[in-house]
Order: sequence, then C-alpha cells, then structure tokens
Amino acid sequence: MKRRGSSDSHSSNQDNDYDYSNSIHTSSLTKIYGNISAVSSLSINVNSGDIFGFLGPNGAGKTTTIRMMCGLLSPSSGTGKVAGLDIVKDSLKIRRIIGLLPESSGFYNWMNAEEYLLYFAGLYRIESYIARKRTNDLLEKVGLAAKSFVPIGYYSRGMKQRLGLARTLINNPKIIFLDEPTLGLDPKGQQDIQKILLDLNRENNVTVFLSSHALSEVSSLCNRIAILNKGRLIAQGSIEELRRLVGSSSASLLIRILNSHDAQKALSDLPIQIKVNSDINNNDNKLIDISILEEVSKSVNKTIEIFEKAGLQIYEVRRLDMSLEDIFFKLTDRRKQQLHPEVKVERGKNNSNSSTSFDITTDQQLENKKMSRRSER
Ligand code: ADP
Repeated sequence: MKRRGSSDSHSSNQDNDYDYSNSIHTSSLTKIYGNISAVSSLSINVNSGDIFGFLGPNGAGKTTTIRMMCGLLSPSSGTGKVAGLDIVKDSLKIRRIIGLLPESSGFYNWMNAEEYLLYFAGLYRIESYIARKRTNDLLEKVGLAAKSFVPIGYYSRGMKQRLGLARTLINNPKIIFLDEPTLGLDPKGQQDIQKILLDLNRENNVTVFLSSHALSEVSSLCNRIAILNKGRLIAQGSIEELRRLVGSSSASLLIRILNSHDAQKALSDLPIQIKVNSDINNNDNKLIDISILEEVSKSVNKTIEIFEKAGLQIYEVRRLDMSLEDIFFKLTDRRKQQLHPEVKVERGKNNSNSSTSFDITTDQQLENKKMSRRSER
C-alpha cells in the first residue's frame, strides 16, 4: 500500500510526492569512469522497513551506488527511485528527505555536538523549537547527551561516528543510507552503532541501506542482502534465499562423540559419509567432531539412530548453518550461470573486470581458495 508523504510541520519532509512503499529501486543502474565500470547494470529492490545489507569487497562499487541513489552523482545509464522519486530528476527532493552517513564525514571541530546538530537543522530549515527538541532527543539516542557541550575536536572516532549518525537523522528521514558506518571502530563502537540502527528500524520503521564489507555485521543486522562484486550484482535476497542459491537449503549437522578405541573402529564402519574434524588418534582428545556429509544430515533423529546403532556415545548434536561468509565466497568464486540469472555470461571471454568471466571451480578448489583467503587475512 502506498504511504504518501505528509507536510507535517514537525518534519522537514515537506514534499507530498514521495512514496515509501517501494523504498529504493534501481534498474540497470550503471556508472562508468573512463574505462572503469564502477557499477554495471545494477537492479536492486529495497522494501520499506528493510535493513538492507549492501555487501562487497573494497572497490566493488558500493559508494558509487550510494552516491547515485542519493542524487550526488549522475548515472551513466539506468534508472533509480528512492521513495518513488527519480534519482536524477528529483535529486534535490531526495536529498531533503533521506539521511546519508558517508564513509568519512567532515566535522567542525570547534563546535560542540549541540551546535553542530542545530547548524544542520538550520540547513534543513527546521523550526528552532523542533530543532532543539530533536537535537536533544538525538544526542540522547546516540549516547552523547552528557558530552553535548564538549568541542567535537575532543571526540573519539566512535563518538564522531555517533554524532554523524545523529546528523543523518536530524531531518527525521524514513530512509537512511550508511556507507561503512562501523569502519575503523572498536568492537564496542561497532556494537553501539548497530544497536542504534536496530532500534531506529524497529521503533521508527526506518528503512536502512547499509553498505559494508563486514560479513558478520551484515549477517547479524540485515534482513535482506545484495552482494556486489566488481560493480556487478552477484545475488540479492534474505540469507535463507542466498543459502538456497548456493545449494544449501538446510543446515548440515555436526555430531560430537566421546573418543575411544571402539569409537574409532565404529566410525570407520559407519554406513554414511562423514568428515572427522578432530585428530582421532590423539587419545588426549576426549571428544571427536564429525560433520555429516550426506542428505541424512537433514534428519537429526535418523542420524542419531545410526550413531547409536554403531555404539557411539553422542556428546552433542548441532546444526551448522552455512554462514554468510561461506555464501559470499561461494557466490563470488563459483560463477556458474545457473546460480545467478541476472549475470549475463559470455563464455570464453577473458574479461578480468567483470564477474562474467568464470571458470567452473570444484568444491575442493573453492575450499582451498577460501582457506588461503582466510590465512591471508
Ligand atoms: P566501494 O565503495 O565498494 O569500495 P567504490 O564505489 O568507491 O567502491 O569504487 C568502485 C570503483 O570505481 C573502484 O574501482 C574505484 O576505483 C572506481 N572509482 C570510484 N570513484 C571514481 C572516480 N571518481 N573516478 C574514477 N574511478 C572511480
């Protein structure tokens, strides 16, 4: 259902032309710099109330996309809408109603947090009594109320980022764009920002478009995700949908059993395919971790039955969801056409700047690549 914007004087959103039912939509959005395709034919959909994770490695095109969607950069081709407004024709209106926290914000170090927010409220022409109230509320929300009179120059990076977030919200936006908001923050700073975003989304139904290369952040915060690589969309959907895309519709099973000579013998006679993850010949290992490699892993009861029949003593049974990290590497490494219908595959073309030049990679190769990546990090 369409929800039209109101000209509520408590909001700076004075246009009636916006429609939040389809918060963000792009169609074949493209940005080319010389011979670099920063963003190639990107089509994404963000629903109202989503926390949408825009995931991709450095240089994937995340910032370029955000700048185009926020009306700060003209696309080379393609179209996009934010709250029903055209990103080219209505760029001014879009800037008025959205919130944007860029990757690095400029701060006026001589101002304090209150002055800084009031200054931005002035730019949005928010009436002064509303601006004061909103400034106080936001400083409270981002945990800076007690430091609101301290010059920003004395703020830590985490405090500046929280202040940046408050500034992003000063015009009471229903859609916010955040470009790597937790980059360079310590774990506590990251957690603070993530909590504020969750609260905003739950309590104020703010749609959050969050660009990040932190897989754990995206998987814990976002209900839907788009994965971008070298300017191209690799996949979009919920984590569950992405799991299905890489062929993992259900979690696999990990069984932990007590180690003994009998157990070692019984394991080798099991009638199902397993992968032993512990050194079973080391008698100091009291427990053995085993992954179940077959379909049978979908049935916990059946698997337990097989283990009990073999005389194995079960200590723990756990389902292992394929993590977003696994999904990400599968999708970016294994570029099979059938995994991603949006990608137009030109077989045999050696186009290193495109995710379309693909090779068929075995699962073992994938595993090796993943391991070497992890050890590089
Ligand atoms: P991300 O935000 O995912 O790190 P960017 O959108 O910043 O990626 O960049 C995507 C690609 O576009 C990169 O290869 C980058 O070097 C290139 N790029 C970005 N801005 C410009 C520019 N103004 N001129 C030329 N190339 C650019």
